[in-house]
Amino acid sequence: MATHAQYSINDDAISGRYTAANAKKRLVRKIQQDSLKQLSFSTTAVLVRSPTTPYYSYHMTITSEYYKQKWIVCHRYSEFYRLRKRILEQLQVHMKMNCAYCKTLHHQITKFEFPKRTTIFKKTEVNEQVAQRTSGLEDFVVALCQYLSAEGVTVHCKNILAIQGMTKEYLQFPLAHEEQHIRAIKSLTYVDPRDVRVDTDNCPICLNDWGELDGNQLVLSLCGHFFHEHCINEWYTTRFDCPMCRQIAGI
Ligand SMILES: [Zn+2]
Ligand SMILES: [Zn+2]
Ligand SMILES: [Zn+2]
Repeated sequence: MATHAQYSINDDAISGRYTAANAKKRLVRKIQQDSLKQLSFSTTAVLVRSPTTPYYSYHMTITSEYYKQKWIVCHRYSEFYRLRKRILEQLQVHMKMNCAYCKTLHHQITKFEFPKRTTIFKKTEVNEQVAQRTSGLEDFVVALCQYLSAEGVTVHCKNILAIQGMTKEYLQFPLAHEEQHIRAIKSLTYVDPRDVRVDTDNCPICLNDWGELDGNQLVLSLCGHFFHEHCINEWYTTRFDCPMCRQIAGI
C-alpha cells in the first residue's frame, strides 16, 4: 500500500523574497515531509509463545523509496493502540483552539475502524481478530503518514510537527540518517552563479550544464564542490560522501 499526499496547502508562512536562509528552511522541511512519502507497508502477526500468556506481535515491514531502505518494526497491538490514543488526545487539545490542521488529521485517522483493545474473542475467532487488527493498524499508519507528509502542515501547526516526530520515532525511521542529512544541507552555501567562478562546466551528479538553473539553485559544499541543490539533496538521501572528493558531509 503506497501513500500519496492528497493535501496541498499553500505555504505562505515562509514567503517573500528568496534568501539562502529561507531556501534552507524550506529544504529541511521538505526532507522531513518527503521521508514520509513513498512508503509501503506490509504487516504480519506473529504468535509469541511467552511462558505466561501467548500474544501476537505485529511485524510491520516498511519500505521507503525515499531512503531506499526497508526495515521491520515490531509492536504489540496495545502499543499501536496507545500511540493512536496519544495522538488523538494531542489533536483534541488543538481542536479546542479551532486548529483546522489538527481537526483534519483527527478526521483522517478516525474514519478508519480501529478495533477496540479490550474486545474478547472466542478461541475460534482469533484469526478474524488478528486480521481485523492487522488491517486496522495498517490503515491508521497509512492515513497518519499521508497527512504528515502533506505540504505545509507542519509549518502551520507545531502540534502536527511534534506528531510527525513522534510517528517517525515510533516507526523507527532512520532518524540518525535524517539528522545528518539536515546537517549536511545546513552546511551548504547557496551561491549566485554570477558572483562566483565555477571551475566545472556541469553538475557532477546530473551532468547538466550550469546554464539554466530552472528553479534549481547552485550550492557549494564545505569541501569546495559545486552542485545543483536538488541533485546533492537527493544524493544525501542515501549517502554522505562527496561525489567529487569523498569527504563526508554533515558530521
Ligand atoms: Zn493544530
Ligand atoms: Zn545537477
Ligand atoms: Zn567534495
